[in-house]
Amino acid sequence: MEQLRMSLRLKQEVMDTEACTRCGLCVGLCPYIKTMNERIAFIHDCSREDGNCYQVCPRTPTDWATLDQAVFGEARTDQVLGNYAQILYARSLDRGTGESGQYGGVVSALAAFMVESGESEAAVVTRGEESGPPTPVVARTREEILAASGSKYSASPTLSALNEGVRQGLNNLTVIGRPCQVLGLRKMQSLTGVSEHNLSARQVNFTIGLFCFWSLDTKVYSLFEQKTEGKAVRKIDIPQNFVVLTTDAGEVQIPVDEVREYIRPTCLRCFDPTAEFADVAVGSTEHDPQWNTLIVRTAKGKEVVERAVAEGRLEIKDYPAARLPLLLTAVNNKKQRVVDGMARGEAGYEYLILNSASFAAAGRED
Ligand SMILES: Cc1cc2nc3c(=O)[nH]c(=O)nc-3n(C[C@H](O)[C@H](O)[C@H](O)COP(=O)(O)OP(=O)(O)OC[C@H]3O[C@@H](n4cnc5c(N)ncnc54)[C@H](O)[C@@H]3O)c2cc1C
Repeated sequence: MEQLRMSLRLKQEVMDTEACTRCGLCVGLCPYIKTMNERIAFIHDCSREDGNCYQVCPRTPTDWATLDQAVFGEARTDQVLGNYAQILYARSLDRGTGESGQYGGVVSALAAFMVESGESEAAVVTRGEESGPPTPVVARTREEILAASGSKYSASPTLSALNEGVRQGLNNLTVIGRPCQVLGLRKMQSLTGVSEHNLSARQVNFTIGLFCFWSLDTKVYSLFEQKTEGKAVRKIDIPQNFVVLTTDAGEVQIPVDEVREYIRPTCLRCFDPTAEFADVAVGSTEHDPQWNTLIVRTAKGKEVVERAVAEGRLEIKDYPAARLPLLLTAVNNKKQRVVDGMARGEAGYEYLILNSASFAAAGRED
């Protein structure tokens, strides 16, 4: 049988099946892949046999254990949260980032720290708009980083901005992304024996992963527009049972059940809600909006966090022992649903190559 071109396999296995996470890493790798309204598609057939687009996609076959070795140099010690050095509560002490941040502003504080210290030339971020989908941006200054603070819950193809930044000659970039975006970056960084010309992830020197249990389709922005009667949305939050939209005229609450139909199916097949391959992973605390949960994963992550603390940018404290079982249960349950789907032979899990050391359910409560 004729071997299918990589680009055709990407189209058939990922784009045409709605498996695409819209990470954006393939956008700009070749001139034929474009994005519109967060949807990623080929605009022209690609004739290359050996394109990297298929290899780096977070929804093409990925061996979790191999990636553990590539990123951490060892097998995982925690099958639920992945490898990590520390789990903490943290918040920004950096005026501005703390105020504009989604919660404790840790992500913006760390990104600003990397850029202002000169260690990164820029940060790849996702800037919200007053209405409609956000925009992937290369932020070269603290102001541009702050302007992108806050969570936008659609699947922005942020990594297209990484490719653009590298094309402009930028090096040593900090990237902020959803877990699937970090996965794509790490796959690209660990590729061997391939053409090096467009491996943009090799220019990334710090990855900040966001916790993410699901993202929404851009169609949700029409619902937001309708609910706010066209007012500009300044902030979106999803505490427990509601989506809360902050406008200049006050808050609009939407029951979370009303947005469930916008959850992207590929997110339900995601095995990684806590950005297991990032240098640091950041999420909410689920009870104190002034603080973040901060998982310090790699040696690089530890070094950057220690310096940010020493320089007064970040405050950290112990993760409350009573909260850890709640986090573990939430992550464990998500992973177990994925493993159950695989065991039933459902479609959409072909990308996931797990061995028994990658996950063993630690007990489930639904
Ligand atoms: C789609 C999505 C789902 C999430 N789900 C959860 C969850 O279930 N549980 C949980 O604890 N946390 C979740 N988070 C993370 C959480 O909302 C905060 O982003 C995180 O706690 C960091 O807070 P902060 O105050 O440090 O953020 P900030 O300092 O405000 O920084 C937020 C950063 O996120 C970037 N960003 C915003 N939207 C996107 C996007 N769509 N894609 C990529 N980058 C983006 C911005 O560029 C900014 O740099 C989710 C985030 C996203 C984007």
